[in-house]
Amino acid sequence: MPIQISNDTLKEHLKKTFGFSQFRGEQEAIIQNTLQGNNSFVLMPTGAGKSLCYQLPAIVMPGTAIVISPLIALMKNQVDQMIAFGVNAQFLNSSLTRSEMNRVKNEVLSGDVKLLYIAPESLNKQENLNFLQQANISFVAIDEAHCISEWGHDFRPEYRKIRAIIESVDEKLPIIALTATATPKVQLDIQKTLNLEDAKVFKSSFNRKNLYYEIRSKKDIDKQLIRYIKSHSGKAGIIYCLSRKRVEEIADLLHVNGIKALPYHAGLDPAIRMANQESFLNEEVEVMVATIAFGMGIDKPDVRFVIHYDAPKSLEGYYQETGRAGRDSLDGTCILFYTYDDILKLDKFNKDKAVSEKENAKLLLAEMVYYANLGVCRRKQLLNYFGEYMAENCGFCDNCLHPTPTFKAEREVVLVLQAIQETEEKFDAEHIADVLEGKVNQYVQSYDHDKLPVFGAGKTVSWNTQAVDDDDDDDDNEDEDEDNPTPKKPKLKKKSQKDNHTEDEKSPWISFIKQITIHGY
Ligand code: ADP
Ligand code: ZN
Repeated sequence: MPIQISNDTLKEHLKKTFGFSQFRGEQEAIIQNTLQGNNSFVLMPTGAGKSLCYQLPAIVMPGTAIVISPLIALMKNQVDQMIAFGVNAQFLNSSLTRSEMNRVKNEVLSGDVKLLYIAPESLNKQENLNFLQQANISFVAIDEAHCISEWGHDFRPEYRKIRAIIESVDEKLPIIALTATATPKVQLDIQKTLNLEDAKVFKSSFNRKNLYYEIRSKKDIDKQLIRYIKSHSGKAGIIYCLSRKRVEEIADLLHVNGIKALPYHAGLDPAIRMANQESFLNEEVEVMVATIAFGMGIDKPDVRFVIHYDAPKSLEGYYQETGRAGRDSLDGTCILFYTYDDILKLDKFNKDKAVSEKENAKLLLAEMVYYANLGVCRRKQLLNYFGEYMAENCGFCDNCLHPTPTFKAEREVVLVLQAIQETEEKFDAEHIADVLEGKVNQYVQSYDHDKLPVFGAGKTVSWNTQAVDDDDDDDDNEDEDEDNPTPKKPKLKKKSQKDNHTEDEKSPWISFIKQITIHGY
């Protein structure tokens, strides 16, 4: 049932309950859309204020709003927050005892509860469905709606059943789906699976102007890491690592180097995990070394840097994680330490997955490879990934501040394509490079690739390393091969402060091939 509430009255509620005097961005329009009984699809970056878009209408509408949320730990935080604001909120999930569940249900049925947070698993239970059918529900919010999509970074199969369940409760209930992941692919998938094609879409820009994006070679990473943190002493930062073991190692490494750091990962005892998180939030430690288990729902506004020790599995994931820097709108630095070996490692993790999942994962990784290797403005690439077009370079990323030298490479591209074709598209970059350079080794010989027309055709290429914008001749050229004074040795790029390539790539062809081929590997 649509309800009429003036914008002035909404503002009064905003002030009275939350203490804010202005709505941010499109919050007001989003709230009005739900009040009018329409469906909404809200795409906003992390920290933009999505929660308020369902919390406020829940307060002003009669009945209970259902909030579907994927993380049990987050639910409790949100409920505590709402209770602190004087709003009766409850949650229903597997952490409750039977009698606690009954108490919550009775409170909802008596009409006292404004917001009920439910985990998708609990929604699937018949007894909970029966209960919801009896309750007076105002609308349904689907938080972290990207969990519905296999293209997202956090797929939860139970999310796929949500729409059918909502319809079995009441097909006229307004729905508001919210996410901070907005690649066009994920957006379409969410709308289709939730049957939300009719929803009004509220998409705000994903540009985080205050974040500086940088990619560094993983060479001497521990030294680089310690140097960076020490030169930003007193600032809060998060270091993301792929494995729990690595998290522990790096936390120890920082600790012995006099940096106040603690580990956080799902394998830690919950009490320790909570204590470590609290220490970070309360500024007893400066650096949180964590797996991606850390961060969702954590509202620490003054995180000044987010460092990726290992390459993330997707650009969405990367964007979520870096998004935790600079939520207070002050500057934040996002550094990704990149080596192609990490991509190969991540690719290996996928080997037991089903074919379609494996293909998805490969594509997501390929996007990551592109991002790490291209000399294009990082922000342009990231926003483009989220379906946003940026006309100008940002001027606030490594590629803008230290442009990669560029060169014309028509002949080289043709040679690579020819080599790929002649080897029947079956070989990796290293092998193609050997063929182009005319290297005779057992693999090349065993496939008779030394007899191909293209064999050795890349030997005579004179790499034109003339920089178009070659202004960063600073001191950090430790990759320059000083022991090898032969100036003729071809190099794809003049090594610069941010060397994008793996330390062990010997032939310039290898990185070149990886940059121009579709999968990047
Ligand atoms: P998201 O879910 O989009 O990541 P949150 O809902 O957690 O973001 O909001 C981020 C922060 O912004 C929270 O601290 C929240 O209280 C604050 N916030 C939300 N709306 C407003 C507003 N209109 N004015 C001021 N602060 C707001
Ligand atoms: Zn830029």
